[in-house]
Amino acid sequence: MSSNRIFFDSHVHMVSRTTDDYEAMRKAGVVAVLEPAFWQGQPRTEVGSFKDYFNTLIGWERFRASQFGIKHYCTIGLNSKEANNEALAEQVMEILPLFLCKEGVVGVGEIGYDDQTPAEDKYYRQQLELAKELNLPVQIHTPHRDKKRGTIRSMEVALEHGIDPSMVIVDHNNEETVQDVLDRGFWCAFTIYPHTKMGSERMVEVLRKYGPERIIVDSAADWGVSDPLAVPKTAALIVERGLPEDYVTKTCYQNPLDAYGQSGQINEADWQISEVDQRELFRGNSVLRGGQTPKIGSSDSDIVPN
Ligand SMILES: [Zn+2]
Repeated sequence: MSSNRIFFDSHVHMVSRTTDDYEAMRKAGVVAVLEPAFWQGQPRTEVGSFKDYFNTLIGWERFRASQFGIKHYCTIGLNSKEANNEALAEQVMEILPLFLCKEGVVGVGEIGYDDQTPAEDKYYRQQLELAKELNLPVQIHTPHRDKKRGTIRSMEVALEHGIDPSMVIVDHNNEETVQDVLDRGFWCAFTIYPHTKMGSERMVEVLRKYGPERIIVDSAADWGVSDPLAVPKTAALIVERGLPEDYVTKTCYQNPLDAYGQSGQINEADWQISEVDQRELFRGNSVLRGGQTPKIGSSDSDIVPN
């Protein structure tokens, strides 16, 4: 895999991944990641579980990434599945503003629709208002069932709330939704999953047809069958299939940077001189176990900025 490309994977759930994944990602050129707050495979039963999860995203996970030379950002929000537990959702809404103002939080997300229930609609709208108030980008999770209708509805509701499409990243798109999203002026992100939904091959054909403007490629790797190297692998395929290098730069780096950079929280300089020091601790904890040798120094000796 080429080592002179750099990538910003703007949708990846690193809490579910291993240190091997971090090492492989950095080696493949991933310099920055964005971790959206999402559900964890089973519903939470207490607001405290959300609180601790959000604190992990802005705390330990951010530190853990730094120990492998990767800059970590996140979006914070109440995901659509858990919006259906209204009693709990009310409590989560109360703590959201506190977390949205923390360092490294670059948007409200991932929010939107799952089954498109009235409760999902209610909390999606409330969170759009919150994003507007705080002037933060919005990261939308579009439903996997009834996708086209759900995607269009997500955008229409955002417009209804007076949100500028340039502040909204619509994710989990496919061939059926791309035109609708681009026509309305929203950012159009694609999750590359092995075997399902969008694979790298299909992504290349989407780019061939639509070009790279406002299109974003991400991995959405999580606790399920997924690939944390989906972005670098797709980038390699884009070029291999004869599309310009510029398509890679835009869709795998510059576009997510521009979209989430509107938060005012992202600084490219942060990863251009990334120094790793694994002797560092986070509240007394290290990523190393007894006897392991800490890595110290530049993590990007073979990395040339795009
Ligand atoms: Zn996700």
